[in-house]
Amino acid sequence: MSKVRTRFAPSPTGKMHVGNLRTALYAYLIARHAGGDFILRIEDTDQVRKLEGAEEIIYKTLEKAGLSHDEGPDKDGGVGPYVQSERQAQGIYMKYAKELIDKGEAYYCFCDQERLDSLKVKSGDVMISHYDKHCLSLSKEEVQEKLDAGVPYVIRQNNPTEGTTSFTDEIYGEITVDNIELDDMILIKSDGYPTYNFANVVDDHLMGITHVVRGNEYLSSTPKYNRLYDAFGWEKPVYIHCPLITDEDHQKLSKRKGHSSFEDLLEQGFLPEAIVNFVALLGWSPGGEQEIFSLKELEEIFDYHHMSKTPAVFDMKKISWMNGEY
Ligand code: GLU
Ligand code: ZN
Repeated sequence: MSKVRTRFAPSPTGKMHVGNLRTALYAYLIARHAGGDFILRIEDTDQVRKLEGAEEIIYKTLEKAGLSHDEGPDKDGGVGPYVQSERQAQGIYMKYAKELIDKGEAYYCFCDQERLDSLKVKSGDVMISHYDKHCLSLSKEEVQEKLDAGVPYVIRQNNPTEGTTSFTDEIYGEITVDNIELDDMILIKSDGYPTYNFANVVDDHLMGITHVVRGNEYLSSTPKYNRLYDAFGWEKPVYIHCPLITDEDHQKLSKRKGHSSFEDLLEQGFLPEAIVNFVALLGWSPGGEQEIFSLKELEEIFDYHHMSKTPAVFDMKKISWMNGEY
């Protein structure tokens, strides 16, 4: 068995929500429990959604929560996180996209917006579209001509349109999607940046991630990631999707009710240790009576096999009680 390596891979788009903190914490605990490595990777290739100052919030939150990462490029004399925009500038993602083109697993697409719009059909209340592989039929010479002429392009994955793709999640069990849903997803965007999906898979592979821990909103996209691993011929990681967190009324967490971000909870006077303790129990249970744990204790006992798929409830009374125990 190779060394356990997990990562936390936030996109710097805003505050650190409780769900983000829990994902980071579980990934951290899985690594520490196994004597493995915990890696921090900033996924900032979406230049539109990127928010000024969000990276600093991530660093501060992790530091206050006590979740230190193990490796990364040198930064200010310390270990910095991996940052995808820096890796993009090194040409890493383009290199791997080209590898897939050479294998026939991806292709250049020069379709303009007008053509893409014409593929949209109404489905219920929304417009959906599946790319029709139009550009897959271009010859090598035609592709080269367009590239030389500077025609804007994206690179798409060449996915099957029939059959199904399945994977097994450690918490949710087997998940299957129809391949038509995979679509020929974009790997490299017209601005030259990789899509979030593509950079995520390339980096998880290059960084030797053995256990991918993330929120359950990613469950339905994981078959897409798996198709990428297959296209490259890479070994897939173990997938651990964390359950949804709701408020006491089983609704989405909201700022108005005082849950939401780590900083907001600190501002309300909760101690970092109490927040971490509370968050650890949102979807995982050690069994037994004890409910107050230090981070060190959590590292010793955390076993992801005891995670639950039922939505976890953020109970304000409980975090207040825990806070009093510190
Ligand atoms: N960048 C993604 C996010 O911020 C991470 C998803 C993942 O962990 O794979 O939600
Ligand atoms: Zn096209």
